[in-house]
Amino acid sequence: MRKLFAACSIAIAALATAPASAETVVVTADRLVDVLAGRTVERPVVVITDGRIVSVVGEGAARPVIPEGATRIDLPGKTLLPGLIDMHVHLDSNPRYGGYTRLRFTDHFWTAQGVANARAMLEAGFTTIRNVGSRDFSDVGIKEAIEEGIIEGPRIVPAGHSLGATGGHCDNNLLPPSYQATRGGVADGPQALRSRAREQRKYGAEVIKACATGGVFSRNTGVGQQQLTLEELSAIVAEARQLGMTTAAHAHGTEGIKAAIEAGFTTIEHASFLDDEAIRMAIRRGTFLSMDIYNTEYTLAEGERNNVLPENLEKERQVGTRQRESFRRSVELGARHVFGSDAGVYPHGTGGRQFARMVQFGMTPMQAIQAATANAAEALARTADLGAIAPGRFGDMIAVDGDPLRDISLLESVPVVIKGGRLVVDRR
Ligand SMILES: [Zn+2]
Repeated sequence: MRKLFAACSIAIAALATAPASAETVVVTADRLVDVLAGRTVERPVVVITDGRIVSVVGEGAARPVIPEGATRIDLPGKTLLPGLIDMHVHLDSNPRYGGYTRLRFTDHFWTAQGVANARAMLEAGFTTIRNVGSRDFSDVGIKEAIEEGIIEGPRIVPAGHSLGATGGHCDNNLLPPSYQATRGGVADGPQALRSRAREQRKYGAEVIKACATGGVFSRNTGVGQQQLTLEELSAIVAEARQLGMTTAAHAHGTEGIKAAIEAGFTTIEHASFLDDEAIRMAIRRGTFLSMDIYNTEYTLAEGERNNVLPENLEKERQVGTRQRESFRRSVELGARHVFGSDAGVYPHGTGGRQFARMVQFGMTPMQAIQAATANAAEALARTADLGAIAPGRFGDMIAVDGDPLRDISLLESVPVVIKGGRLVVDRR
């Protein structure tokens, strides 16, 4: 046994020191968006070895030494950007099945749906997604299947079940009492919610999501009404921190938003009814806003056909316009944003449309791109791996025709996606 172990150690050491066995990929393009410096680099050469970026140089700098046998991906006429990160995704969801129509399907239907949706997200240029709430850890299962190479999809940061109060937005309120339907993350009181957070971690969650207020698509919840107390929210954050996890709070109403910021959540999801005080609190605490300002267009246009309940459509009408005003004001005051789209409320793979809305409502194109890259990586506490085309990070990048800083709508259709140095989408 000891001999075998020794032999293995030697083999591993040999692998680590022999560059001949390393797999190198070289990517060139017309320009590159450096999201960390907030500028573009002309004629970039990016070298990726074994999935991680080892060097990035631009015009005028000494060209790197390319090892023999390296794979080349030359993208003339194109701009390279870091792989996009969507911080608010529900993989196991399909907007076409609104209201009670989703009850037609067996439970595992939704995991199968998630497999297709993961592929659609990657095809759209999202090389990482944060899945903020799933049924029965389907997000963890899909992540494992992607990592095993069984299916294709983005890197996934899963939440498992969303935590929330009895009868709150993250409970199942569709069925009468005799069905005894309760979602897996539901609990009341600080200690019970801490237990729920521990359970999510136990089964593979990497972020804790909690529903601080009511929401648009739940039944019998006021969209703005606070549903977890400050004490409960603080307990959730304390537990997540103890476990080394980041946190996301679903919060539409002003009081719930403020309570979630005060409790120390990493990101506030939706953040629809912001006032200046809430925005300033977020800035002071370093809280990121994750505002899904595209999907209202889809819900209002298609909701009725998708059998969304009238009560839910009415709530969307209350929220949509107000949320965009809040977004504009938060950008004006200098709040920090991540890109969160609520994919699943609208069809996965069309989320790139949100970039143009972020610019329409006050951001520069660079700010919108940073929200989906550098800022998102920071909010995931993953700046060593994600969010920029920079040495040490994963070789995750996309390429678009022309210059997205002039025309942000180029991000609505991404022809080239590279994940870990591997060309996973090629529609050149
Ligand atoms: Zn959501």
